[in-house]
Amino acid sequence: MTAPAISFEFFPPQSLEASFRLWDTVQVLAPLQPRFVSVTYGAGGTTRDLTREAVATLHKSSGLPVAAHLTCVNATREETLGIARDFAAAGVTDIVALRGDPPKGSTGFVSHPDGFASSVELIEGLREAGEFNIRVGAYPDTHPEATDAQANVSYLKRKFEAGASEALTQFFFEAETFFRFRDACEKAGIDAPITPGILPIENWKGAVRFAKSCGTHIPTWVVDAFDKAERDGREDLLATAICAELCSELIDGGVDTLHFYTLNRPELTRDVCHALGVTPRLALKNVA
Ligand code: FAD
Repeated sequence: MTAPAISFEFFPPQSLEASFRLWDTVQVLAPLQPRFVSVTYGAGGTTRDLTREAVATLHKSSGLPVAAHLTCVNATREETLGIARDFAAAGVTDIVALRGDPPKGSTGFVSHPDGFASSVELIEGLREAGEFNIRVGAYPDTHPEATDAQANVSYLKRKFEAGASEALTQFFFEAETFFRFRDACEKAGIDAPITPGILPIENWKGAVRFAKSCGTHIPTWVVDAFDKAERDGREDLLATAICAELCSELIDGGVDTLHFYTLNRPELTRDVCHALGVTPRLALKNVA
């Protein structure tokens, strides 16, 4: 099996303790030499300043290529583009451009009267504003707001036509789900790279809640397996095995890039990467 190129998603820390945890996470995962790491933008735009700070600090201190998530929620076009310009001024021109989810408690996405109304509008705005490398989200299990699977794929195509260079997918449980989606994208004429998003399951109940909210289908065999693993206190072993198996099937099916949702907990991601043959590479300066 050829080792895949990997990338990692982090979220911005909201406390001093969380800052240390993020830094520990970076220390554990950086030796695996990801092609980039990304920093999320809190639902409803809630972590705007924290994301900006985390992106700038990671760029300055980690030595890793950083991508900043950016959403359209609760901001005017000028404010959103201002944040993108701040990222660029800090040296970060890779953006993961998303429409975003509304803040907790709101039922659906409502665009700001002077804001970008969709991810496509945001991508177009970024394209006009400067030299950004734009990645976008994609949904192998079909986004809950898409009218059907076809609309889900057509909308992704529009995002590439607007200027995106790569899609990172929402997490899913079975390789077949990704292959079906990839085939549908190919059939629709999409030839840009689509990188599977991988969630190593640190917390089963949390993963179930998250899956329900974003439309990820949970197969019965996974529910049964976690029920038994919880009973016997071996969730981490199961999570590592399920995740490594999923990645291995994806790689066997031709996938060569994987994007890990780390949740700022590095252990499972590290173990899965090791199982896939992605192992620490020493910088020459550390060998001499
Ligand atoms: P889009 O692709 O724009 O829309 C999703 C679906 O809805 C489309 O497939 C389409 O069928 C339909 N749709 C939407 N708008 C239209 C329209 N105008 N016309 C027709 N159909 C439409 N959320 C955050 O808040 N912060 C983050 O940092 C963050 N990071 C993420 C990273 C990744 C890799 C992914 C996959 C998701 C992330 N999300 C994040 C979640 C994301 O914001 C939500 O899934 C949101 O509901 C959709 O955003 P999007 O830009 O991917 O959706």
